[in-house]
Amino acid sequence: MRYAVLSDVHGNLEALEAVLRDTRRGRLDACLCLGDTVGYGPDPNECAARIRALGGPVIAGNHDLAAAGVLDPSAFTPLARAAIEWTRDVLTQETRAWLATLPPRLDDPAFLAVHGSPRDPIEEYILDLPTSLAIFSDHAFSLCLVGHSHVPGAFILQADGAVSARRLPVGRGVRLARAARYIVNVGSVGQPRDGDPRASYLVLDTTARTITLRRLEYAVAATQEKMAARGLPTPLAERLAVGR
Ligand code: ZN
Repeated sequence: MRYAVLSDVHGNLEALEAVLRDTRRGRLDACLCLGDTVGYGPDPNECAARIRALGGPVIAGNHDLAAAGVLDPSAFTPLARAAIEWTRDVLTQETRAWLATLPPRLDDPAFLAVHGSPRDPIEEYILDLPTSLAIFSDHAFSLCLVGHSHVPGAFILQADGAVSARRLPVGRGVRLARAARYIVNVGSVGQPRDGDPRASYLVLDTTARTITLRRLEYAVAATQEKMAARGLPTPLAERLAVGR
């Protein structure tokens, strides 16, 4: 089975369409979405409709639940909160109802999928080795797929207990060793934060046991113009050009 694993679309339709064109060329079997389909960007309803139409599993992110009124966004940064308030106002009843019912995790025989982390699926960031080690210790998965930080990469636990972090090469498959365990962040479609403004997603081949990071250019200026026209905070538009 070959999956496109997408996360953190954040209402960025231009980035999502670039990714979906790439997934069609790759003839993948299914699309898995790790949450935060809305928030920050100018097209939340359109992005939600595109993701729903793919028919694959979709799980909840913190912005999805905040936009749906299920999660209190008082812990969000002021800019994120401003964007969530705008998003709440423009969501259709249909999109809001869909977001409110998204599950927090997906347990597949081949992987565990969450937005943040297995111990706090909605809100925890896995950013460092000690956090990854605690999660490897407390949860029984061989591969955990996450988003949330918008920074693609992998934490790897070897059979001897050594844990390491690594960046993923773009466009080149990495084989998953049977003896090791992995936490893989697929990056963000609509708001990358690793210094590379290109949209990010992951191809997971559960038969060949490979992961391949893909990065796609898209019309950043078109998204920025929409954000300005809709009155979304300027820094949120500016960051798209630099991937921060
Ligand atoms: Zn996000």
